[in-house]
Amino acid sequence: MTLDQFNFAGKKAFVRVDFNVPLNESFEITDDTRIRAALPTLKKILADGGRLIIASHMGRPKKNPDPKYSLKHILPHVSECLGVDVKFADDCQKAQDAVAALKDGEALLLENLRFYAEEEGKPRGLAEDASDEEKKAAKKVVKESQKAFTKVLADYADCYVNDAFGTAHRAHASTALIADYFDTDHKMFGYLMEKEVRAVDKVMNDIHRPFVAIMGGSKVSTKIEIIENLLGKVDTLILGGGMTYTFMKAMGGTVGNSICEEDKLDLALDIMRQAEEKGVKLVLPIDSKVADAFDNDANTQFCLSKEIPDGWEGLDIGPKSMEAFADAIRGAKTILWNGPTGVFEMENFMAGSRAVADAIVEATAKGAFSLVGGGDSVACINKFGLADKVSYVSTGGGALLEAIEGKVLPGIAAIQK
Ligand code: AMP
Repeated sequence: MTLDQFNFAGKKAFVRVDFNVPLNESFEITDDTRIRAALPTLKKILADGGRLIIASHMGRPKKNPDPKYSLKHILPHVSECLGVDVKFADDCQKAQDAVAALKDGEALLLENLRFYAEEEGKPRGLAEDASDEEKKAAKKVVKESQKAFTKVLADYADCYVNDAFGTAHRAHASTALIADYFDTDHKMFGYLMEKEVRAVDKVMNDIHRPFVAIMGGSKVSTKIEIIENLLGKVDTLILGGGMTYTFMKAMGGTVGNSICEEDKLDLALDIMRQAEEKGVKLVLPIDSKVADAFDNDANTQFCLSKEIPDGWEGLDIGPKSMEAFADAIRGAKTILWNGPTGVFEMENFMAGSRAVADAIVEATAKGAFSLVGGGDSVACINKFGLADKVSYVSTGGGALLEAIEGKVLPGIAAIQK
């Protein structure tokens, strides 16, 4: 079932959203992107005359209630965005009366789902020195009560909509388990989730070639599963950022003070071997912009990435690498970018990431499909003001990374089965 096919008139819809927005010390929202991202779905249900039950988590509460993490803080803003007076249920497990009182076109926001340990299914309050046995027993208890918790949520509604891509990689009560209580005609993705799933599908399954992926970031160890999965899919893999100094060292180069994982040298060589075996063109930086301190105002110079002098560290790619990266990107038909090619947070070391972003924009304008996502690359593309010039910027950090690692996301699978 899709959101567009379903007529919500008179129906109670349980909609899992990701309203985990940042708040300041006065509990004011400092960035409402996640709320705005869910509005098209919520508005469609209200416009149909549906009865909206909005559910989300916020932060990492450790008790019930935990006022710091109350969704009450965001209620006025949600009402304003939706243009209706959204009601509030103080306890997500005791909202039966509030749900029964909902009329067509009305909305109810449930209190933070994670006030209950059952949402995540993780035990709370275990002593630090708890034995493995005790941990196992506590987990069993919470898993048992998770079933009852999930059923209470499911019983509120006639249908289930998941629009929380940010938590799609978690098999939590409201993101995955609840879907079992609804048949395929009564569960569906929200618009945001639909867009994310489609974007991931375009780079994982429906690939137009050449497919070029650009992976950056600080460490190869945190990206290894993604890199290995991509080696089976891409035509060209460009590596940038701190992780590349591990490759330089592995090839016998000198990297000065650059970030380098000494215990991952064999892994780097193995990735190079795998790329060759699979016929994937691996593009590593030729030159680097090196600095004599990890500081925006440090002294800098350009040098070969495999010949970094003592006392210097590579904080961005150099002009030759930028040209090589841009050349490879310009000819692509499918592009995936995850991770900056340098310390883009500092003005003097963002040129490499900017060159990558510009080349992606150019290829996109010529018809390529480009997906940017996973943490820092999103901050990067936003910083450059180019988010609307690529095909899709993912809202899901961890979820996107797991999807491109090739994992099945429980939140997606639960709707599709
Ligand atoms: P990750 O979270 O692994 O994607 O890494 C992103 C971070 O890597 C950003 O904060 C960048 O500043 C950092 N980074 C990128 N290139 C370098 C580099 N050459 N040296 C140190 N940090 C880097």
